[in-house]
Amino acid sequence: MNRRFFLTTLSLSPLLANDLINNSKDIYLSYQEYTTLKSLNNRLKRLSRYVGYANFNIISFNEALYYGRNYSKVGIFTKDELALVDKLFSENPNQYGFYGAKTCTDINNKISSKDVVKVSYTGHYLFKGKPVEDYEKLKKDIGRTLVLTSGVRNVVKQLSLYCNKLSHNGGNITQASIQIAPPAHSYHTISDFDVGRRGWGYKNFTDAFASTLEFKKMTKLDYISMRYNKNNSDGVRFEPWHVEVI
Ligand SMILES: [Zn+2]
Repeated sequence: MNRRFFLTTLSLSPLLANDLINNSKDIYLSYQEYTTLKSLNNRLKRLSRYVGYANFNIISFNEALYYGRNYSKVGIFTKDELALVDKLFSENPNQYGFYGAKTCTDINNKISSKDVVKVSYTGHYLFKGKPVEDYEKLKKDIGRTLVLTSGVRNVVKQLSLYCNKLSHNGGNITQASIQIAPPAHSYHTISDFDVGRRGWGYKNFTDAFASTLEFKKMTKLDYISMRYNKNNSDGVRFEPWHVEVI
């Protein structure tokens, strides 16, 4: 930042100056990409409505393209939208301050219905094996007030959540990737799941979940751990609701 501009800003408005300092290193989508983000986001929302909330969690990107081509309610993904998807999926997010592992290398990653279990009344799936076993044990040890709030998420669903965050953060990629893993980097694509307190809605995805009895009971169970503790090395915010499956 130009020093004269900085000092002038500081003398005029400490708040504004602070804002500029804090966000000076944040990376944003270009104006063109931000415009494309809006149309991509809307298309993904239409797709979710078309295929259904639960199914949207597991469909592949190839299937998304198929629905786009064949159903006018969804519409064909534009060249610019596809370029943005490719960028968000393929770019190294270290530049945004996200250091989590890559969990998916194929944008067309397929999730077979044989490998997942639909969890009744949740609109979500869990991978068979350890994730389902862990969740069932959790329900048994904590009780009926514990619910699955998000399970298996293939690339399309993760992309959609990521695009929402980007949109809410005005195209600020750095801020978005603190709040949610980029599309190729989510453990929801291979194992992990989120839990919450029944009837708590969006609060289950805030720090407030850490104050619930459900969370306190969970911390006492030796077979459960959190993927994103406070100040985790992945650069992700504290997520007390996100269960790590190893
Ligand atoms: Zn999660």
